[in-house]
Amino acid sequence: MNHKAGYVNIVGNPNVGKSTLTNRLVGERLSIITSKAQTTRHRILGIVNEDNYQIIFSDTPGVLKPNYKLQESMLKFSRSALQDADVIVYMTDVVEKFDKNNDFLDAVKKTESPVLVVINKIDQTSPEQLDDLVDTWKQVLPEAQIFPMSALHGFNTDNLMVRIKELLPECEPYFSKDELTDKPTRFFVSEIIREKILLYYQKEIPYSVEVEVEEFKELKQQINIRAVIHVSRESQKGIIIGHKGAALKKIGTEARKDIEKFLDSKVYLQLFVKVNKDWRNKKNSLRNFGYELK
Ligand code: GDP
Ligand code: MG
Repeated sequence: MNHKAGYVNIVGNPNVGKSTLTNRLVGERLSIITSKAQTTRHRILGIVNEDNYQIIFSDTPGVLKPNYKLQESMLKFSRSALQDADVIVYMTDVVEKFDKNNDFLDAVKKTESPVLVVINKIDQTSPEQLDDLVDTWKQVLPEAQIFPMSALHGFNTDNLMVRIKELLPECEPYFSKDELTDKPTRFFVSEIIREKILLYYQKEIPYSVEVEVEEFKELKQQINIRAVIHVSRESQKGIIIGHKGAALKKIGTEARKDIEKFLDSKVYLQLFVKVNKDWRNKKNSLRNFGYELK
């Protein structure tokens, strides 16, 4: 057997560029990316298939200290990513302090899997500062190999990929070779809508929202999609809808355009807003939305 396969898990604090890197390595736009922390809530697999290898990347929510049940589940996704990895990519950037999250870093140090440290966003620093940062990380994780990078501009991502392939164990493929991800199409549709909400609304609104695709119907000419935006309080409903429905209409249009690109089909998108009081703390709602709980 000359086939290699394995799980490459990308972990790190919120906003360092994990989703940007995953999308670049996978070559598809699977994870939504915004400048807001906690954009990624689930663990999302992106699969790269070639004749002689299969790499299963997993993009994780940033590590964080949970304030509500939703975040507990997000943290669980990140911790589980340390357990089943063949290669761990620990991502940091040129801004954050190396000791920002010591607990998680300790867990990274204890894993048996090889760790690659990516120092991202080097487009935002000087060579001298970068040298210092590389030295610091060499001390923090002496066993790890370090990759200064700009995931956004695609700088040094190739070298990371080469190293990952070297580290992959010999193994049969885990997934069929035509699979790109483990998540259903509906998931990506709801994520695209959530991305628009993250981009368009301020303050706590994006964090109070979950999107559920209630209907996904493929017709000859187009795909009909009906989605519900769940908010946790009555007052948020008005904000989402906006004056005479203008805000909802705007995100609906933007989301539809991206969904059409993603599905390569004409789409008819209907959006509704529902109040689902305090869903972020309700077990049933969270299960319904695909979060795992203790
Ligand atoms: P995640 O929370 O770790 O998944 O981070 P994202 O991938 O969502 O990225 C967070 C923000 O950092 C977004 O605004 C990205 O465009 C930005 N970003 C990602 N990579 C780079 C990079 O190499 N350079 C710069 N300047 N910004 C980046
Ligand atoms: Mg992310």
